[in-house]
Amino acid sequence: MRRLRKTKIIATLGPSSSSASMIEALHLAGADVFRLNFSHGDHKDHEERVDTIRALEKNSGRPIGILADLQGPKIRLGTFKDGPVLLENDAMFRLDLDETPGDKTRVSLPHPAVLESLEEGSILLLDDGKLKLTVMEAGTDFADCEVTVGGKISDRKGVNIPNALVRMSPLTDKDRKDLDFALSLGVDWVALSFVQRPDDIAEVKKIVAGRAAVMAKIEKPAAVEALDGIIDLADAIMVARGDLGVEMPIQEVPAIQKKIISRAREAGKPVVVATQMLESMIAAPVPTRAEVTDVANAIYDGTDAVMLSAESAAGEYPLEAVSMMNDIAEVTEKDPMYQGIIDSKHGTLEATTADAISAAATQVASTIGAASVVTYTTSGSTALRAARERGKTPVLVLTPSLKTARTLALVWGLHCVHTSDAKNFAEMVDKACKISFAEGFTRPGDRVVIMAGVPFGTPGSTNILRIAWVGEQ
Ligand code: PEP
Repeated sequence: MRRLRKTKIIATLGPSSSSASMIEALHLAGADVFRLNFSHGDHKDHEERVDTIRALEKNSGRPIGILADLQGPKIRLGTFKDGPVLLENDAMFRLDLDETPGDKTRVSLPHPAVLESLEEGSILLLDDGKLKLTVMEAGTDFADCEVTVGGKISDRKGVNIPNALVRMSPLTDKDRKDLDFALSLGVDWVALSFVQRPDDIAEVKKIVAGRAAVMAKIEKPAAVEALDGIIDLADAIMVARGDLGVEMPIQEVPAIQKKIISRAREAGKPVVVATQMLESMIAAPVPTRAEVTDVANAIYDGTDAVMLSAESAAGEYPLEAVSMMNDIAEVTEKDPMYQGIIDSKHGTLEATTADAISAAATQVASTIGAASVVTYTTSGSTALRAARERGKTPVLVLTPSLKTARTLALVWGLHCVHTSDAKNFAEMVDKACKISFAEGFTRPGDRVVIMAGVPFGTPGSTNILRIAWVGEQ
């Protein structure tokens, strides 16, 4: 199965999309990677979804990526004695560590590290930013706040603290259990929520120890400030616009999104744009014009992937949402202006053989009108540099590692095939031509540009560029 677009699609699975027939339909319609959201569902749900995806992968012969998204240190209020309470503007309201159910004067905020990080003037946003509290006085176990923007509040609502660096571990006890479980299922990607600093990524990478790639979700002002350090350490980045739009002034989200895409592209790290992309499709079979334009804008900026959350997990039209994303990507990438816009944001090359060969292959393919670029890779690192070129010619990745093929399913423009390594020069050419043809990229008489490394089968050895004709197959 060959996609007619380079931007990838991630679909979150949930109650609307967990049957084997729906997962297969979503994959056929365009989902390249499935996201398991560990904020919802139990381990049994996630395990069943992984089993279904792996069975589908076996039948379809196409590597499919699985992303486990950890909930992270989401801060929540405690509970209220008599149901929801109305906090009036200018009233005083206390947050403390007392787990007794709250009322309209106080409630528990059962996170000692959060209370410790508050000071006079700190802002707390409750329930996705609907209510706003300003801290007047803070101690180690309490914060007395003025209600700046009032409203109704109820049990366990989320709390965002935009301008405080909270000394919390990037993983809660729940995250640690979920991470262990996700790794035991063999997921390809782990996404870390509420990252604040590069050290958060380092800590998680130590635990993951290469068993999966690690994606940093950028949703806090501290992470935006430490962006370059986070991009350096993470294997991929997500523009997590849901919480980002609560923690930062919402009108700053577009510029931050563009900055994150641009920095990630420069570094050659995959980047995902997420949340509310086709939000209205949770309840309607067609999106709004604004949503379609939003998805297309991310594609024009060269994002690796666009993501569906509730639209595919809990909405009424999961299949229509994936098909719509697929259509938007196909049509946007066919716009004659698209490649020019993408090329105008090309980063500078690093002084490495991988970059030199990747850039040369892309240019040679474009000059001679080759039907595909074929790259042999084991770890996937050469393929990532080839994708960074954002070339016009499709890139086929031939890899002996199924893990690499699945992981790269997220990456712009890469069509991965799991196959054994070439053993010699003749086989390298023969395999590249045969697989390009079998996967629908070439016809007899077409040319392909091949990147490989000698000695064959040695990771990190890419040093060959070869042009080959596809003969009668
Ligand atoms: C987000 O906040 O945009 C996001 C993707 O995270 P979650 O869906 O876990 O809230």
